[in-house]
Amino acid sequence: MMDEERSNEKCESVTLSLMSEAVSAPTECEKRVCVFGTGDMGRSLGLRLLQAGYSVMFGSRRPQSCNFLPNGAQVLSHAEAAQAAHLIFIAVQREHYDFLVPLAYHLKGKVLVDLSNNLKKNQYPEANAEYLQSLVPEAEVVKGFNTLSAWALQNGPSDANRQVYICGDRAEAKQVVLAVATKLGFSALDRGSLSASRELEDFPLQLFPLWRLPMRIAVGLTAFFFFYLLIREILYAYITQGKDISFRIMVSLANRVCPIVSLIMLALCYLPGVLASFLQLYRGTKYRRFPDWLDRWMLCRKQLGLLALGFACLHVLYTLIIPIRYYVRFWATERTVTQIRQNGTNEFITSRAWHSDSYLSFGILGFGLYVLLGITSLPSVSNALSWREFSFVQLIDKVEFSVWVREISST
Ligand code: NAP
Repeated sequence: MMDEERSNEKCESVTLSLMSEAVSAPTECEKRVCVFGTGDMGRSLGLRLLQAGYSVMFGSRRPQSCNFLPNGAQVLSHAEAAQAAHLIFIAVQREHYDFLVPLAYHLKGKVLVDLSNNLKKNQYPEANAEYLQSLVPEAEVVKGFNTLSAWALQNGPSDANRQVYICGDRAEAKQVVLAVATKLGFSALDRGSLSASRELEDFPLQLFPLWRLPMRIAVGLTAFFFFYLLIREILYAYITQGKDISFRIMVSLANRVCPIVSLIMLALCYLPGVLASFLQLYRGTKYRRFPDWLDRWMLCRKQLGLLALGFACLHVLYTLIIPIRYYVRFWATERTVTQIRQNGTNEFITSRAWHSDSYLSFGILGFGLYVLLGITSLPSVSNALSWREFSFVQLIDKVEFSVWVREISST
């Protein structure tokens, strides 16, 4: 017990010097990390810290009755755990932060990592991390790790989930957290001072912000071409010839709309890059900001491209089901029966067979390249490509675009 206390005192006294040497080899004291809260997030973080070689102490309200904690972790009361480590992760909901006020003395000079998120944006007047700092002003609060889920922490960093954002007012404290994140296998990105914490807290609440504009464009284009073709092909036939071919709405019409929208979306994916290049040439420099509208457009190019691929996939599916449609089977049978009745034969036209096979083959080729482009836009794949490899795929995609345009224009 005496040894433990001595070691704790030593740990507190070296806290500040540790912060300045955070990136060097971890000492015994640096290896000791405390996690307040034994819930999902606390347990997952504790497990990863243990796996990375840290000695983990949990601070809990009920140290005697905590279950399912990772093997090798100690469980102490909040006050004991706070004294034992210089780095403390707060894996407790913001609503319960009051319990930290009586611990202020033990938290003096310590680095507190605020992991908390909220249920909705602007739930509180100030960010959780700023609130925590106001409760324990003599501690060094750093916001971080809140954009990871407990599940992602348990599974370890994957290509799609490697990024950890941190922010805080003291550079040394941020260095401590950055070193831990790096040791856990994450790449940490410094987002500046603690005032950026609200932005980090809003990250998990974002609902496809970059998808909104592309989705609106896709819905608008689909609606426009659907109604245009509905009037031109279905209503016009009904009004002028009294023919009811409304059943075509479900497959034929949809199959006309999908490739048109797909190609327009693909063009919209590449157009802003071309406009940006012209703008840079016109201005004679690349060191000036693009106008806001172009900036926004450039940022959602990937989403435009993926939606274009989605419409192309729908076109492929609609095309594949053509032979099993009632309408097609009916007319095929009718034609065969008529031929038998008339005892007639049709001549095989080789040029038409060539035309049809080439048309289908180019379609398959174009779609294959389209899928290739979609795959290379995935972060895990694009990260593995060099700039030259990426440019090569982009070049192939331009060829594919012209193949598809030819195909659509020949339908
Ligand atoms: P949780 O499973 O409900 O655990 C919260 C823990 O806080 C409890 O196990 C409890 O630990 C402690 N606690 C509860 N009431 C308390 C009180 N009045 N005073 C002191 N401690 C109290 O929640 P969680 O999912 O682990 O989330 C914890 C924090 O991490 C939250 O702020 C959340 O926003 C954030 N976060 C969670 C995730 C996630 O995937 N779960 C992801 C990102 C961020 P003891 O019983 O041991 O005291």
